[in-house]
Amino acid sequence: MDHFAAANRRRLFLKPGKERMVGKRHPWIFAGAIAKETGNEDAAVADLVDSKNNVVASGFYSRHSQIRLRALAFGEELTEGLVRERIARAIARRTFAHGNAARLVNSEGDDLSGLIVDRYNDLAVVEIANRGLELLKPLVTDALKDLRVYFKNDIPARKLEQLPMADEWTGDGAPSTEITENGLRFSVEPAEGQKTGFFLDQRENRQIARDLAAGKRVLNLFSYTGAFGVAAAAGGAAFVENVDVSAKAIELAKKNHALNGSEATFTVADAFSFVRQRHDTWDLIVCDPPAFAKSHHDVDRAGRGYKDINLYALRLLNPGGMLMTFSCSGHLPLDLFQKIVFSAALDAGRRASFVRRLTAAPDHPVSLFAPEGEYLKGLLIRVE
Ligand code: SAH
Repeated sequence: MDHFAAANRRRLFLKPGKERMVGKRHPWIFAGAIAKETGNEDAAVADLVDSKNNVVASGFYSRHSQIRLRALAFGEELTEGLVRERIARAIARRTFAHGNAARLVNSEGDDLSGLIVDRYNDLAVVEIANRGLELLKPLVTDALKDLRVYFKNDIPARKLEQLPMADEWTGDGAPSTEITENGLRFSVEPAEGQKTGFFLDQRENRQIARDLAAGKRVLNLFSYTGAFGVAAAAGGAAFVENVDVSAKAIELAKKNHALNGSEATFTVADAFSFVRQRHDTWDLIVCDPPAFAKSHHDVDRAGRGYKDINLYALRLLNPGGMLMTFSCSGHLPLDLFQKIVFSAALDAGRRASFVRRLTAAPDHPVSLFAPEGEYLKGLLIRVE
């Protein structure tokens, strides 16, 4: 079936007065902005029309989601060729001077709302968060034909879209691979892991940790598979401890340290209890928790979590020590995160400055039209 043919498309009629909102080119068109719908309800592609019957936007359709349309084209015609070209261009923009893993497609940041593709060596891990795009899957697999492809389907968005949640994999054995990042080796197991298997967004921040680590005692909180710990050890840290609540993550952290011939201590523990119970001090602490705010309803509670962990982490730093602290909650803006860390420093009784702001690596571009894509924010803090 030609999903792009006019007869197979859904037609969405914009509510009067919503034209200005569409003019801002945010790719998410919500159900509340739509007066009525006609045409194929199983369509992959929909056109959004205004009161004068002009097509103002076209994109991937989802009849189950509040995000009814993920717009790709505003004014220009949406063709199969345009989608293929968007994917090809996103992939072509990536560089591999740092190693053999990168995010190839970053959803809105690559004008492909709903599509994430991470490349790990010879393996591509794909997350599709929209029903229309699911129907157009061959356009994605065609672009990745030189790679093995694993579809990571257990993401919450797919539940809302009423899409299958079981991962898809046609390769032999488990979809595991090994990547290199700035000369360091990491084992990646997408089927078991968080997100697509590895946090590529932290690549440059790991390099900063590595540059700071020489001779230091380094605590890696929420270590996952130990990537910051491996970077710190490679930078000549005197001692590295990785702490994560997941025994499975800690197993992989051990493996990653071994792959790089580096020593570390590994602790399966709740990081909140760990920082309360331990009294030895550190020169560099990395604090990279999971998103505490999953929706805007959670922001207050999340704020208390960030304050708590940062307060105790700051207390454990030696004079002149540094804290690399992150929030990956898309719903928590940078200025609020900075205020939370400020109030943690105040309560910890530590004088503190931030040396730089930390952000995601450039293979995670953010659309100026969809700024909430800037989920990862961090501060590198020095305490006296
Ligand atoms: N810094 C890591 C990514 C961290 S992901 C990297 O660069 O690869 C967040 C991690 O926090 C996950 O591994 C999860 O298991 C862990 N986690 C979640 N809650 C936790 C808690 N209360 N205490 C310790 N670890 C926790």
